Amino acid sequence: MTDFDVVIVGQGLAGTTLALHLIAAGQRVLVLDAGTPVTASKIAAGLMTPITGQRLTLSWRVDEFLPYAREFYARIEQETDRAFCHDRIAVRLFTKEAERAVFERRQADPQFRTHLADAAVDAVLPDDVADTEGGGFSMNAAQLDVAAFLAAARALLTVEEAAVDWGRDVAFGTDSVTVLGHSSRYLVSCEGFAAAANPYFGFVPFNAAKGDILTLRFKSPVPACSLHRGMWLAPTDDPLVFRLGASYDWAQLDNLPDAAAGAMLEEKLTAFFHVPYDIINHEAAVRPIVRESKALIGFHPAHPQLGFFNALGSKGSLHGPWFARLFCDCLVTGTPVPAEFDVQQYVTPGDPV
Ligand SMILES: Cc1cc2nc3c(=O)[nH]c(=O)nc-3n(C[C@H](O)[C@H](O)[C@H](O)COP(=O)(O)OP(=O)(O)OC[C@H]3O[C@@H](n4cnc5c(N)ncnc54)[C@H](O)[C@@H]3O)c2cc1C
Repeated sequence: MTDFDVVIVGQGLAGTTLALHLIAAGQRVLVLDAGTPVTASKIAAGLMTPITGQRLTLSWRVDEFLPYAREFYARIEQETDRAFCHDRIAVRLFTKEAERAVFERRQADPQFRTHLADAAVDAVLPDDVADTEGGGFSMNAAQLDVAAFLAAARALLTVEEAAVDWGRDVAFGTDSVTVLGHSSRYLVSCEGFAAAANPYFGFVPFNAAKGDILTLRFKSPVPACSLHRGMWLAPTDDPLVFRLGASYDWAQLDNLPDAAAGAMLEEKLTAFFHVPYDIINHEAAVRPIVRESKALIGFHPAHPQLGFFNALGSKGSLHGPWFARLFCDCLVTGTPVPAEFDVQQYVTPGDPV
């Protein structure tokens, strides 16, 4: 008999959504987290936006992921008596005429149309707030206050503050694994980009990107919608405080705020947004990207007790709950890991693992 069914390393979006699914499935779960003050999850804006990118495509499998994410977060809100997931109107402003043409074409698709909101862009954003002459559209979106979700979830979890050293702290038995003195049937790495340094998962080809994000306090009221125009502006619980993000830097993979990235974000905002503001915070963290935002789950090829849930990319809030449910089924009922999401697809035959 082991102390736990599953020990999870990392209490970011991956570890938290997985732990909550496992507990709901009756598993005994321990979460070990290093307590790092700035992580991708802690600084994320939590936007869940159905139509994205220059080609205005529907976010990958949004019609499955978004309803499931909303249902999942609503359940945790109820269990914790906290509110951290909100419906939001998201306004997308065109940056060039070609985008309007793409939008006109995309509207022929009934599935695309189901995500549009009725709100007229210039009604949401009056002239004294923003220049909307280039046009745009509004959509029904959602936003998770990620830091509030992670904090609330701790009331439902057993969490121990510890930074796991994989070389020193982990020992594998035949059907179990021991980590920092706790025995378990499974040990799952949910370490975000820190997994790039995990000696057991060195075969995972991270293509991670640092993101800078500014917190602004506006000097007069701004509509509580999220706004997208080559950057995004996301509301917070404080009606004057918004988050402005986020840059992509594939070279400098650290958590240090980058002045040039901050300046670039401000330039994009002030090109069309008129409300004066003060910057009250500047943070940065690394998004764990492997292949766009398609998460990876599965087991280590030589140690079947060792699991992996990572690579949520830029969409941890939207994709996390769905992948957590999938991996929970694999861990609890032995459902096979679907090949397209299996971390083992990156193992090169013959290479040591
Ligand atoms: C600026 C920015 C803005 C973003 N905005 C959005 C957004 O609007 N919407 C959205 O959906 N996504 C957004 N994202 C992406 C989102 O943040 C990620 O998809 C998500 O946070 C990844 O979660 P994770 O749990 O895999 O990793 P992390 O958040 O990095 O969590 C990993 C956790 O594991 C812990 N850990 C790591 N190694 C160890 C160890 N060895 N021992 C113990 N603990 C360990 C860390 O301390 C951390 O708590 C944004 C990201 C950034 C950087």
